Amino acid sequence: MSKFINERFRLLEEYVPGEQPQDKQYIKLNTNESPYPPSKNVIKAVTKQGIEDLRLYCDPECKQLKTAMAKLFGVNGDNIFLSNGSDDILNFAFMAYGQKGAAYPDITYGFYSVFAELHGVESEVIPLKDDFTIDTDEYKAKDKLIVIANPNAPTGISLSLDKIEEILKSNPESVVLIDEAYVDFGGESCYPLTRKYDNLLCVGTFSKSRSLAGGRLGFAIANERLIADLEKIKFSTNPYNINRLTQSIGTATIKDNDYYLENCQKIIKTREWVTKELENLGFFVLPSKANFIFAKSDKISGLKLYEELKEKGVLIRHFEKDRIKDFNRITIGTDKEMKTLVEKIKEIL
Ligand code: PMP
Repeated sequence: MSKFINERFRLLEEYVPGEQPQDKQYIKLNTNESPYPPSKNVIKAVTKQGIEDLRLYCDPECKQLKTAMAKLFGVNGDNIFLSNGSDDILNFAFMAYGQKGAAYPDITYGFYSVFAELHGVESEVIPLKDDFTIDTDEYKAKDKLIVIANPNAPTGISLSLDKIEEILKSNPESVVLIDEAYVDFGGESCYPLTRKYDNLLCVGTFSKSRSLAGGRLGFAIANERLIADLEKIKFSTNPYNINRLTQSIGTATIKDNDYYLENCQKIIKTREWVTKELENLGFFVLPSKANFIFAKSDKISGLKLYEELKEKGVLIRHFEKDRIKDFNRITIGTDKEMKTLVEKIKEIL
């Protein structure tokens, strides 16, 4: 760090992304990417002309992609916001709506606390219950930004829409952000509620169920006034934040929606299989509605299992936080990858 950095950022603890080894030697089950490739139309959408057109700026309003998204979700274009990954949108939301503070669970996506610190937003960290579920009563009448991942990460546990609706009703003067990065793997999206509640910001991503983690495309669905706020921030920071290629492949992704829904079903089936296998080996596995499971064993510590699997070429995610240090988060890969995982775990145990 230089002596020139603004004092505000000197002590900022940045987010630590999962390992991204570049040599492809691992079975990579550590950052919740899809094991399935993008669809045929996505591959066709990357053309020579498209590459040549990179000399031109992209459409800052992403009209084509927005129209396709609006049609897919049955909303208007002005109910959709698009940005460079959903992390970007979370960042904007803390910037825009954190003036009275923010409330979120103790065990959740690690970026929330970083964004809060980055923007000087006071955080109220609400512990999950002993069974790692969210106590929704704790989020009532908060009068501050509420941020909930549904399904939650890294637990994978999902919350029902009626519980979310209770939170929305009791916080009419503040924004409730529901981060649905993992909703397509068995959860229920709250986006239809955006018609009824002008304080609901539903955030999604193309990174998980739509196989585009490296393309960086996130979206939000909300009342048009919330969307206008986010557009204001985007146009005040980086209006061209979704590049031309990502805009085209994003539009092609929507054309092939059925392919992605099928992949989600495959992932759900694999998740149920691997959950049973691990339970048979004595693991405790939280009930997941995401493309990962969160599991622990009495026979081996979370850290040791992570290290030993890494040595055997399988990468999973271990978190050091006290309350969850016995667990590991394991992304659901292909059936073949998960069979290898189970074999390696048997060897280790
Ligand atoms: N929310 C949650 C809960 C996540 O786990 C992730 C992925 N790390 C994101 C948001 C961000 O995803 P992306 O920026 O790739 O859209």
